[in-house]
Amino acid sequence: MARKIFIFDTTLRDGEQSPGASMDMEEKLEIAQQLKRLNVDVIEAGFPFSSNGDFEAVQMIASEVKGPYICALARALLEDIECAWQAIGCAEKPILHTFIGTSPYQLNDVLRKSKEEVLKMAVDAVQYAKSLCHEVEFSAMDASRTDLGYLYEIVQAAISAGATIINVPDTAGYAVPEQFGQLIHSIFKNVSDINKVRVSVHCHDDLGLATANSIAAIKVGATQVECAVNGMGERAGNAALEEVVMAIKTRGDYLDAYTDVKTQEIINTSRLVSRLSGFLVPPNKPIVGSNAFSHSSGIHQDGVLKKRSTFEIMRPEDVGLSESEIVLTASSGRHALRHRLAELGYELTDEKLREVYQIFLTLAEKKKQIYDDDLRFMMSGEASNKDQDIYNLDFVHYSGGECLGEPELISARVMMSTSSRKDLLNIAFGDGPVDAVCKAINEITGARVEMTEFSLQSISKGPSAIATVIVRIRDNGNIITGQGASTDIVVASAKAYVNAINRLLVLWKREKEDERETREGI
Ligand code: MN
Repeated sequence: MARKIFIFDTTLRDGEQSPGASMDMEEKLEIAQQLKRLNVDVIEAGFPFSSNGDFEAVQMIASEVKGPYICALARALLEDIECAWQAIGCAEKPILHTFIGTSPYQLNDVLRKSKEEVLKMAVDAVQYAKSLCHEVEFSAMDASRTDLGYLYEIVQAAISAGATIINVPDTAGYAVPEQFGQLIHSIFKNVSDINKVRVSVHCHDDLGLATANSIAAIKVGATQVECAVNGMGERAGNAALEEVVMAIKTRGDYLDAYTDVKTQEIINTSRLVSRLSGFLVPPNKPIVGSNAFSHSSGIHQDGVLKKRSTFEIMRPEDVGLSESEIVLTASSGRHALRHRLAELGYELTDEKLREVYQIFLTLAEKKKQIYDDDLRFMMSGEASNKDQDIYNLDFVHYSGGECLGEPELISARVMMSTSSRKDLLNIAFGDGPVDAVCKAINEITGARVEMTEFSLQSISKGPSAIATVIVRIRDNGNIITGQGASTDIVVASAKAYVNAINRLLVLWKREKEDERETREGI
């Protein structure tokens, strides 16, 4: 009989550790609500001990999101575990997840402890967690580079101490599929109580093998995969949720396995996470990239037109893309909007529909044709958090151009305000309109930051598409992401830059209040 594979989503914990991906509390809650619609089994909501902000976000998700298990990460230290429990104790179905490094690299260079000391710490941590919470997950960090005998020993000890889930992380992304499969197989063979627990894997994509390693583990008996939407995570990221889920769905015949994920919600989830995290999805990314289901070569197009299955192993509608796209315009009524949104998976109350319809009309007047991705964009809300906005952008005007090869003077006029100061005006010149606008914003805010990245992507189709701009700025080792969207690319750039500066100001405020920042994880 086919085995159910638990999908453990770590977008909000490991994914959030991607440099520059930090999301605020409201954004994390919105993602958690969407993960619930996606029907993942476990949401790892964060690492409560790492900061006050993380603690509060985990607590909010634990109290508001019902259905999936809500998991919190803690090092194998009693104070970490106690803190994690304070954050998730209110959840309907909590999981305490504790971890410790077990490889020689971790023992000798990081922890500087003997195998016996680390084993004792793991047992104490699991026992304490078990005294608080029925479901306890134990991770042997860097398991794929751990001495086998020691790995069996610590896993057995964690099970005896009460762990209900054993996670085998390939923390450094070092494993290759066949070998990783053998590792999981050998754990099943050599740990006597292993069949009493759920065996989980957590793979990183440093060699582009995270999904392959996860699938190899499922084949030999693992029943939980830890993954993140759009493959977010430390460094090259985690196994991508959408890849793992669709590989299980498409190759269930070979794996003898299935998941309970509602795959039709995959595109909505990917777009929302991309928008809120500021990580754009490349067009060629499997499952969720804009080209993932487009056929361009003549032979392929011909084949697909004759019979879809010639070159298509998955149906676009299974991930939430509609086969025939209906284009809405300003003359589309409220009923048509509701109908289309429902087809895309968004159910609206009458009140919410009225609100959304106004946004729809404003957008439709600007860009005439409204595509599905415009609607998804509308439904994922404004990028900037109103409560946190210290500066508002009130007005942007720019001019420039080129006359017979001679560049014209490029200038920008920007007006901004804060809750206490109005009409902050500056005029600046620049190499291009975005440069001029950013200089004017620097003058007004006094920001002296380095812009390390600027990217622009259109949300849907056509020359009047909404542009979304992502900027990253660097300040003392912090990387902050800002984003803005508009049908005007210079205005979108200005919004993104102001959003990044506002986030930096919030971060400064928080760092003053919060001395307790640790950044660690499996
Ligand atoms: Mn990780």
